[in-house]
Amino acid sequence: MSVVQKNTSEASKWYLPGIMTGMGITFRHLVSNLVDNLTGKKKMITLNYPEEKHEYSPRFKGNHVLTVKKDGSLRCTACMLCATNCPAECITIVASEHEDPTVEKYPVKYEIDILRCVFCGFCEEACPVDAVRMGPEWQTPGLNGANFNYGIEHLAYRPQLKGGIATHVDDEERHKAGI
Ligand code: SF4
Ligand code: SF4
Repeated sequence: MSVVQKNTSEASKWYLPGIMTGMGITFRHLVSNLVDNLTGKKKMITLNYPEEKHEYSPRFKGNHVLTVKKDGSLRCTACMLCATNCPAECITIVASEHEDPTVEKYPVKYEIDILRCVFCGFCEEACPVDAVRMGPEWQTPGLNGANFNYGIEHLAYRPQLKGGIATHVDDEERHKAGI
């Protein structure tokens, strides 16, 4: 059992010394960073976002991508393994029979509620056909709640994936781009 010890001293009731100490440390770092940056001793680690963006490792697990075959159709066979393994239960798949007898099933709906996703990568690990991958994109802006439910159009054909549905991105290119 853990015990929480309260500081009951009179001095602890006065917050001003603590605030002043904290502000002093912040000011000291501000001045030393400015001097180091101006003298070229050390580069400022602050980025001017959004003009400057941090480059993450290609292994970074960011926004999802549904991969496509050369003909542009989804690789996903709607086996549900990703949705079953998702700890946040944020993947919704509706499967349908395919008109091509060589394809058993395909998803008519594949949706990820990105606000519930914890970016654990279990979906990517669970997929037996490499149909869902997590890429280097980490920005998830949206103007309303609906924008955070990523459907097939977004997951497989968004413009950031080099041209959308009109361009069929080669797997090798995807690997090189880290997606
Ligand atoms: S990254 Fe994790 S939480 Fe997000 S969709 Fe995949 S399995 Fe679910
Ligand atoms: S993305 Fe992969 S694991 Fe998920 S339903 Fe499609 S084939 Fe199955």
